[in-house]
Amino acid sequence: MKIHEYQAKKIFSDYAIPVPAGAVAHSPEEAEKIARELPGPPWVVKAQIHAGGRGKGGGVRVTDTVEGVAETAKAMLGMTLVTPQTGPQGKAVRKVLVEEGLSIRKEYYIGVTVDRGGQCPVMIASAEGGMEIETLAATQPEKIIREAIDVGVGFCGFQARNLAFRLGLDPTMIRAATALFSRLYNVFESLDCSMVEVNPLVTTQDGRILALDAKIDLDDNALYRHKDLVALDDPDEKDALERRAGKYRLNYIRLDGDVGIMVNGAGLAMATMDLIQQAGARPANFLDVGGGATTEMVTKGFEIILADPNVRGILINIFGGILRCDVLANGVVEAARHVDIGVPVVVRLDGTNVEEGRRILATSGLEFLVADSMADAAEKVRGLKAD
Ligand code: GDP
Ligand code: MN
Repeated sequence: MKIHEYQAKKIFSDYAIPVPAGAVAHSPEEAEKIARELPGPPWVVKAQIHAGGRGKGGGVRVTDTVEGVAETAKAMLGMTLVTPQTGPQGKAVRKVLVEEGLSIRKEYYIGVTVDRGGQCPVMIASAEGGMEIETLAATQPEKIIREAIDVGVGFCGFQARNLAFRLGLDPTMIRAATALFSRLYNVFESLDCSMVEVNPLVTTQDGRILALDAKIDLDDNALYRHKDLVALDDPDEKDALERRAGKYRLNYIRLDGDVGIMVNGAGLAMATMDLIQQAGARPANFLDVGGGATTEMVTKGFEIILADPNVRGILINIFGGILRCDVLANGVVEAARHVDIGVPVVVRLDGTNVEEGRRILATSGLEFLVADSMADAAEKVRGLKAD
């Protein structure tokens, strides 16, 4: 689960990690009122969305007057912010964070995540702050410093000092920096995070070191241990179609391709996505209707796929086991009664009640491209692309 920067900074404060003074606002008036009570000028207004790269997209603005804070908030609230991480459709800004502006001396990167290969948490740092760590890893991997953490021992003082010295921090900053790194690991461990990232961590002209940005991803599988954190979830940040799918307990994830898929079983869904890629197309979604799907779930799933304007064709790939082929066919036909399909649909059915399923589709009066194997399905998807 992702949370907003202002929520992550509140957590940082609770763990004594220094952050700029600030508060979240939902209106220009509120933003101005907050600025009046903060040190400044300057002040910084930051769009609160679940995506980074806001600086590049106009979602982080520095201003010298409290009126400027109100104006900036007015311009940002309600806007659709497009950043390198939001995708072209962008994200709606519903709140802004107003902060004291700092005079930055230097920007750094510091983060904690899980090293799956090493099977341990790892603290990652770089003196190249502000740059995306993925880009840095690809272009200048030598500029990334890593400390692997033994979970039994925890994050050690010598590791914090190692990082601080290798970052080339000023000797007067070492003590504050090492304390900050240890607290960052405390956050990561105590809250069962999958990632904690500070990009940039900054030193200022007046000799402070602070987390200028804050990103926390919580491990969904551990959320049951943190009931208070569940309240930080912001449903507005979820994709509208994913939210709708959640209501029907459908395992749906929106992707950026144009072939919608409906499959039963996560393994078959993965194989189907591979098949689409191999056919030269890209999947528009992942949808596993699961073994126990009812006609209603299939209907809703099909409607959700069709509601995605990017979808130019659909591949239904079902191996009828617990989910019988006739149930699937009825669901699809039922959905077609409520919504105009409008795009070609390739269907590959096999397994329990396959004859009955095929009969339902064939006599429905709707046009389906029936594939009799995975290979044939791939061929027909390739055909969709050529249309
Ligand atoms: P992101 O682009 O979404 O990761 O947003 P950040 O919070 O990282 O902000 C982007 C950039 O804005 C930072 O790297 C800074 O260079 C700049 N910035 C943010 N706050 C301040 C501030 O208080 N003073 C100054 N001078 N720059 C700031
Ligand atoms: Mn950032």
